[in-house]
Amino acid sequence: MIPASPLFSHIPASRTGNDGPGWQRLWREAITDPMALLEMLGLGRHADRLLAPADTGFALRVPQGYVARMRHGDAEDPLLLQVLPGAGELLESPGFSVDAVGDLAARTGHGVLQKYHGRALLIATGSCAIHCRYCFRRHFPYAEQTAASARWGAAIEHLRGDTSISEVILSGGDPLSLSTPKLAELGEALCGLPHVRRLRIHTRLPIVLPQRVDAEWLDWLERLPMQKVVVVHANHANEIDESVAEACAAMRGAGAVLLNQSVLLRRINDTVETLASLSERLFDCGVLPYYLHLLDRVRGTAHFEVPEDRATGLLADLRERLPGYLVPRLVREVAGAASKTPVPREALRT
Ligand SMILES: *Cc1c(COP(=O)(O)O)cnc(C)c1O
Ligand code: SF4
Repeated sequence: MIPASPLFSHIPASRTGNDGPGWQRLWREAITDPMALLEMLGLGRHADRLLAPADTGFALRVPQGYVARMRHGDAEDPLLLQVLPGAGELLESPGFSVDAVGDLAARTGHGVLQKYHGRALLIATGSCAIHCRYCFRRHFPYAEQTAASARWGAAIEHLRGDTSISEVILSGGDPLSLSTPKLAELGEALCGLPHVRRLRIHTRLPIVLPQRVDAEWLDWLERLPMQKVVVVHANHANEIDESVAEACAAMRGAGAVLLNQSVLLRRINDTVETLASLSERLFDCGVLPYYLHLLDRVRGTAHFEVPEDRATGLLADLRERLPGYLVPRLVREVAGAASKTPVPREALRT
């Protein structure tokens, strides 16, 4: 293989024709054994203290490229804490339930979730390249009900019948876990729905497996004849290395507006310094901070919770530190509400 010329080193390998191993292979090579992960990080001898002593019901899964961004020998690494099944997950906490955000109630069938005016969210797939321990989807039976089955047929019929929908949001699971031809089927079908002006893709893959942003997918994105928004998901500046920055540049080059959403997580990003560096690092890559979510109160995640008064205090400090456009909106998901709920709550019309 011809090495990429240094002159073009800022262009993602996928665009220079030097593709490296395909993203599907890197996906398959993800680490799924907690002991193997600890050994890679030089933490094997602390396994008893660090690992949950029983099955948590949600397997470990983390791509090797993401592991490479963790600090060797540091059990408090903010990336490691997002993926390691720890003992905290087995604790029962009052108020932490299985369907904390009311998604089961909002489901219209066929993998379409409609909670807010003008926007329909398609559960494109149940799979993710990484398993984030704080995720509300850890308890969901998404694998059975996705919008991608039967060539998106039922989901498209639903969208066709509701002309109030101007934005289609692909979510999951991670929608970029679908192959590009599968996404192309959806793109084509959406072109037949003139009331849909925007396609938004909620995905963590450009952060955790940036090789997914390959030439074939970028070509699809660029040709899609509608407005495009990609909302990535990073919680800490250390998640964003050069390969992620290149993937972001390539998505912008293909005409997408880039936003980020994060979850406020205890020990991971609950200081002003950490949140400020995340915003700065995102903006280096052309990504604007969009939402900072308070944790959904999902069973097994109580040890990640940052109390609401601390969260609002952190945001007040962040506002004094950064330009307004680098301060994310602090929100909480409230079952049955007509939008994400701003925190503090007074800001919402009652
Ligand atoms: C979060 C979410 C959206 C998007 O909300 P925005 O405020 O537009 O980002 C849409 N539908 C559902 C079901 C959601 O959970
Ligand atoms: S990638 Fe997103 S949907 Fe998947 S486990 Fe992580 S937070 Fe949840």
